[in-house]
Amino acid sequence: MNFLLASSNTHKAQELNELLAAGNLEITSAAQKIDVVEDGKTFQENAFKKAEAYFKEFKTPTVADDSGLVIPKRPDILGIHSARFAPECGDYQDKNKRLLEEISALKNEERKAYFVCYLCFYLSSEEVYFFEGRVHGTIGHEAKGTDGFGYDPIFYPDGQGGKALAEVSEWKMKNSHRAKACESAVKFFKEQK
Ligand code: IMP
Repeated sequence: MNFLLASSNTHKAQELNELLAAGNLEITSAAQKIDVVEDGKTFQENAFKKAEAYFKEFKTPTVADDSGLVIPKRPDILGIHSARFAPECGDYQDKNKRLLEEISALKNEERKAYFVCYLCFYLSSEEVYFFEGRVHGTIGHEAKGTDGFGYDPIFYPDGQGGKALAEVSEWKMKNSHRAKACESAVKFFKEQK
């Protein structure tokens, strides 16, 4: 099965391609970016909005990923707005620095966080499927590692001996929020055959 990816985030595309290929789900990048206002109140709503907008434009089955980092002690930042945190910062190195400053008052046990990923597969207006994945961890006190993207350098997944997600790329490909959502999708579409 082939799906058009409703995203222009090349990092996400790369991860999704690799993860979904395992289930013979092929992902093609859209020839043109569609601007979608992500004003939904949940990850699921925003994933739906993106998948639907690309489906309406390109008239072909689509897949959208809406994801983000959640720090339950600081519900006022990140979450569904993760991509829009500190827009004045030029890149994620700066954003991560800013985020560490922003939460510097939080004690270790208050720095618990998780990444969440919602995938929306939009096959037609009557056939839409969602899959969710999460990975739990802690926001560290410094940025570490060079792999991955976004907030990977400051997110230390549980059980990885204090390493950041950006230091354990192989582990990320098997255990991340995106990997878990993709695993459920692959399982589902295999069972449909
Ligand atoms: P959106 O889903 O396009 O709204 O953006 C999600 C944002 O969450 C990204 O721009 C990143 O900042 C962050 N994010 C999502 N997944 C990951 C990940 O796997 N690693 C690091 N940051 C992520």
